[in-house]
Amino acid sequence: KDFSSDQEVRWCPGCGDYAVLKAVQSFLPDLGLRRENIVFVSGIGCSSRFPYYLDTYGMHSIHGRAPSIATGIATAREDLNVWVVTGDGDALSIGGNHLIHALRRNVNMTILLFNNRIYGLTKGQYSPTSETGKVTKSTPVGSIDHPFNPVSLALGAEASFVARTIDSDRKHLTAVLAAAAAHRGTSLVEIYQNCPIFNDGAFEGLKGPDAADQLLRLEPGLEVTVDGQTWTHDPTEANPTRQFAISRLDGDPDSPVPVGIFRQVDRPTYDDQARAQVADALAAAGPGDLQALLDSGDTWSVAEERA
Ligand code: SF4
Repeated sequence: KDFSSDQEVRWCPGCGDYAVLKAVQSFLPDLGLRRENIVFVSGIGCSSRFPYYLDTYGMHSIHGRAPSIATGIATAREDLNVWVVTGDGDALSIGGNHLIHALRRNVNMTILLFNNRIYGLTKGQYSPTSETGKVTKSTPVGSIDHPFNPVSLALGAEASFVARTIDSDRKHLTAVLAAAAAHRGTSLVEIYQNCPIFNDGAFEGLKGPDAADQLLRLEPGLEVTVDGQTWTHDPTEANPTRQFAISRLDGDPDSPVPVGIFRQVDRPTYDDQARAQVADALAAAGPGDLQALLDSGDTWSVAEERA
């Protein structure tokens, strides 16, 4: 059973979303979880139809807010394996604030950020990852915005797991997803995803037989040179400075584009700590007192003043 649902998939023919969906559907059983213990939360955009196509729990939520809704789910339900599916517009424009706070808090969730460098659902406006100068329906003489690099953004927020992969490379995509799912804390995976209708060929140079020279496949121990300095890539390095420097290589026309795991470090998760605080409060006040407080409608501070 590959966790596919009985819903008709409704993306344009050739859309890169199909490849990611297939990889996720076939990979999920490897987690060894029951379908009722997995939940996919999405925002708004083409990729956000994702939860319909999986036979798990899911929520097609509100624009940009999927990381916040997933934070609540992950904190309230330790038994659930929580995923967020979002796009470059959903995650980095209206949802930018929600994304960076989920990343810094290190909530236990896996975020798949489909980056096609365009707004597809609304038919071809420039997005926060569109290149400067890009001509779209909303930038008829070229975009004057400087684009986000999602990996650099996540590293700047000190996310504990940051990776990039590409829709056309099933093996690499599946390996990165497996590592992201196994990580405890927030995992952000940027997926280069082709939109053949409104931004076809955005990642064309990174596919096919010539792609080997165009991609820098990150592995622990790989020697990487940035601005004339060479060092050994270590995704577990606590200080993200070198990982950030590597992420900037894809803005360098003379450099291959780095893909793979940039960062993978352990640090306490938000939801574990929140649950520990609630457990401590329950131990101190006792479940009877807590129920009385909840029923009274008072706040903690009012109750303490009365005590
Ligand atoms: Fe995919 Fe682009 Fe069609 Fe959206 S508009 S479904 S991203 S091909």
